[in-house]
Amino acid sequence: MQKLIQGLHKFQSEVFPSREGLFTSLAKGQRPETLFITCSDSRINPNLLTQTEPGELFILRNAGNLVPAYAPTSSGEAATIEFAVQHLGVRQIVVCGHTQCGAMKALLTPEALKDSPAVATWLQHAEATRRHVRDNYQHLSGDALATVLVEENVLSQLESLRTHPAVRARLARGEVSLHGWVYKIETGQVFQFNPAGGQFEAIDRGSPTESVVLPLRAVVGI
Ligand SMILES: [Zn+2]
Repeated sequence: MQKLIQGLHKFQSEVFPSREGLFTSLAKGQRPETLFITCSDSRINPNLLTQTEPGELFILRNAGNLVPAYAPTSSGEAATIEFAVQHLGVRQIVVCGHTQCGAMKALLTPEALKDSPAVATWLQHAEATRRHVRDNYQHLSGDALATVLVEENVLSQLESLRTHPAVRARLARGEVSLHGWVYKIETGQVFQFNPAGGQFEAIDRGSPTESVVLPLRAVVGI
């Protein structure tokens, strides 16, 4: 706790005064252009990764960067997505998975969760991912299997986003775009799904920055 308190002191005595203009303007409201959905993993820092400032990313985090399919019984995720799209008017939604994801590893070893019922129940939102990988990537194992699982999970969550009425309506009007990313912790690289090639490709200086339209795969069943 001491480390956090010391950090607060430094923020208030050094960082805030040096950026007072930014924080004063943010006190009047927020207008983020991006809803950034990622894992709760402590190794991911969305603002550091994208070099964005406070006020630029509306962030939704949970174990496994999962998006429960829309249901009449709401969830924190559904409310956050609806608010971001409908009220904040975000123009893009990024689902960012990552390598070494504990939630994804747990998907492959469900027996390890027998004493963690809340986690096991939550990961049912990734059941479509698990089945898809099990049925289509039987030839893979180890790191290759883990990578595919992370990538397929991102794609499944993008499909799940389409079940949310607010997202669906704005997608139809071209007012929002969806992006699938995987952050490689080991190298700092980010890979983006390219629908044209049907695979994840490294984002580098030469990568196009325009929106891409993701093809619909089979609707995710939760
Ligand atoms: Zn994770």
